[in-house]
Amino acid sequence: MMLRYGPDHKTEMFFSLLRWIFLAIAAIIFYIPSFRHMLSLELRAFSYLFWMGLIYMSITQVCLRWYKQKGRIFTTITYAGVLFDFVAAIWLMILTGGVTSFFFPVAYLIVMHATIYWGKRGSFISVTGIICGYVFIYFYLEQYQYDDKTFFLCLNLSFLVLLGLLGSMLVARERQHHSEKMWFQEAALHDYLSGLPNHRAFQEELQDSIYAKKPFLLIMCDLDHFKAINDQYGHVVGDDVIKHVAVVLKDCAHLAKGQAFRYGGEEFSLLMPLKCKDRLRELLKEAGSRLQNITILDHTFSVTMSFGVAIGTVNQTAQEIVKEADDLLYEAKEAGRNCMVIQNQKNYEVVGF
Ligand code: GH3
Ligand code: MG
Ligand code: MG
Repeated sequence: MMLRYGPDHKTEMFFSLLRWIFLAIAAIIFYIPSFRHMLSLELRAFSYLFWMGLIYMSITQVCLRWYKQKGRIFTTITYAGVLFDFVAAIWLMILTGGVTSFFFPVAYLIVMHATIYWGKRGSFISVTGIICGYVFIYFYLEQYQYDDKTFFLCLNLSFLVLLGLLGSMLVARERQHHSEKMWFQEAALHDYLSGLPNHRAFQEELQDSIYAKKPFLLIMCDLDHFKAINDQYGHVVGDDVIKHVAVVLKDCAHLAKGQAFRYGGEEFSLLMPLKCKDRLRELLKEAGSRLQNITILDHTFSVTMSFGVAIGTVNQTAQEIVKEADDLLYEAKEAGRNCMVIQNQKNYEVVGF
């Protein structure tokens, strides 16, 4: 089981918002004369930072809109964000009083951001980086004088180590728990072999379809003479057939905005909107054609499937709908397999491919 935590879109949007807030605060302090005079700040040096920030943050904002999680561009901009924040924070601190700068708390956010993406290693590296930057500011601006600012330096750094590091450890632990929870949730609802949502997910989705109070199609699917494939080519080949069928049925379901599940064994189920009823034959026929002449581990053969199609209505229970589809599947087997049997008023209709 491998658990990794990558950049996440919501967190990045939040950090991006924080950056805009800090940029706005900094711009007010620097560009509104009453604040500026109070602080004796260097306006030109700030302007470089201001424009650099504005450009970087605008690009980031556009990228966050365009690229969602997991893309390379998204990952790069999120990681670069931590570095940008570090440079901007040190720069701002130099411009706003050095060691006593009121921008120091930004350091906590940087440590937290780094911890979110690189765990404990990120928190150690960012705390070390900030300590180095802060000590650099001290020597750069104070020129080795021992005064109140030395006390400030020690106090701030102690807090950074205590709160920043420990706080980040908590964040890292929380993230770890969260990713474990997601992993178990994923494992509980998916079938290991085929990767499809499993029986539990099917029952939950079926219940939701009933609650939605709209008729829908429940299609029970069963591989024909699958035991013979296992017997002839072995279970490893049989397993690969199940994986292949899963992909085919998933694509088929997606074409009609439905969902495919592994019901159990060599049986699958599809939940589809009622409006695809008229083109269902065409969809299942297309799926069936993708099971012809498949080559698995040097064996080339064809498999067929039988389908029982029930129309789920709001007045039925989940069990009743499944039983109906199952009975229709049985009729399809009886009718010679490789066909679908669809509920039609009080009767049913056998449709060959
Ligand atoms: P029918 O056309 O009547 O459905 O015949 P069948 O042979 O498909 O049905 P039967 O119920 O006799 O056999 C189902 C077989 O599916 C038996 C079982 O070993 C196999 N099977 C179920 N799950 C898996 C699996 O995960 N991997 C493999 N390789 N075989 C499986
Ligand atoms: Mg079966
Ligand atoms: Mg079967």
